[in-house]
Amino acid sequence: MVPDSVSRLIALGAEVIVEAGLGTLSGIPDEEYVKAGASVESDRKQVISSVDIVLRFHPPAKEDIEQMQPGSLHIGFLNPFDKSSPVGILAQRKINAIGMEMIPRITCAQRMDALTSQANLAGYVAVLIAANHTTKAFPMMMTAAGTIQPCRVLVVGVGVAGLQAIATARRLGAQVTAYDTRPVVREQVESLGARFAQIDVGETGQTDQGYAKALTDEQLAKQREAMLKFYRNADIVITTAQVFGKPAPKIVTKDIVDALEPGTVVVDLAVETGGNVEGVKLDEIVDIKGVKLIGFSKLPGRVAFHASQMYASNLVHLITEFWDKEAKTWKWDLEDDIMKSCLIAYEGQIVHPQFKSIHS
Ligand code: NAD
Repeated sequence: MVPDSVSRLIALGAEVIVEAGLGTLSGIPDEEYVKAGASVESDRKQVISSVDIVLRFHPPAKEDIEQMQPGSLHIGFLNPFDKSSPVGILAQRKINAIGMEMIPRITCAQRMDALTSQANLAGYVAVLIAANHTTKAFPMMMTAAGTIQPCRVLVVGVGVAGLQAIATARRLGAQVTAYDTRPVVREQVESLGARFAQIDVGETGQTDQGYAKALTDEQLAKQREAMLKFYRNADIVITTAQVFGKPAPKIVTKDIVDALEPGTVVVDLAVETGGNVEGVKLDEIVDIKGVKLIGFSKLPGRVAFHASQMYASNLVHLITEFWDKEAKTWKWDLEDDIMKSCLIAYEGQIVHPQFKSIHS
């Protein structure tokens, strides 16, 4: 939450309580929340047990769920595809739970779409990390001492993060090539002044939500072979390839890493879902014969102020959508398309069909 979003919630008629120190890592002192109209409390247990709605980023710990009142609402990321998700405990405790990752990718829900707001920042940060670890400058420079060629950046996976990575690398002056299995992406890549790597892996496609369909093992093998020349020609490789709800595809295998030029920097944005790059380690830089594999997690947290600002805004838009302005309270509309997509637990049941069997 950021102070501006607190004000927006208060304007709706809500009372807002903020946990002491909430904004410290985003550079926002407690007093700013107080100025915006919130009260700041340090007794988390007491607060959690007294509120109607808890807003959070990461999935809640069991101890926190145990403090919540039955019938209250929890909104945040829940990681529902994973068995370790607290979805089952939330349902057992009769806490109603909305999973922010399940906000549908449709135009009318764009302002609530936290996957997009965070991925956008992750793409930006990935380029800055790469720029910090390469030994090369990004832009072309023609100087009396000679000409510096522009840095060559390859982006694999051109969803929200990939597009922002391309735009950021281009702004810094790099020469960018990009690839995605969804053919519709080509035009977007070219409109950002990058080159699309045209390779043939057979039929690919996307779901009605715009997500990539998973490639078969043979298609992934074809992709790795056809992409090799692009990897070898890059100073920086940024991978963002994901398949919603599934482990990330392994697109840069050990033999590809071994074939890279020393000095190449590889930033793997999919590290939290298993990684696109073989040998990458969570939150580490692995050096393999001069090739740096970077697997930092939580990239949006490196621009914490804006990540908080965007996430808080997503939450406020969601709450506003389901707010009864007369009664000044949350109003359930279980027939609403956005609600049907993101409501996971309701009145003691896991109501989302995709997750019933995973958590029963
Ligand atoms: P994502 O994080 O699930 O995946 C990132 C990218 O990896 C995707 O572009 C995907 O096609 C690609 N990918 C998967 N397997 C690959 C492989 N083997 N090789 C190369 N690339 C691979 O995607 P995302 O960023 O969340 O976005 C998914 C789609 O949803 C995009 O089309 C995006 O434009 C769309 N979207 C729509 C809306 C909306 O309409 N409201 C909002 C946000 C995103």
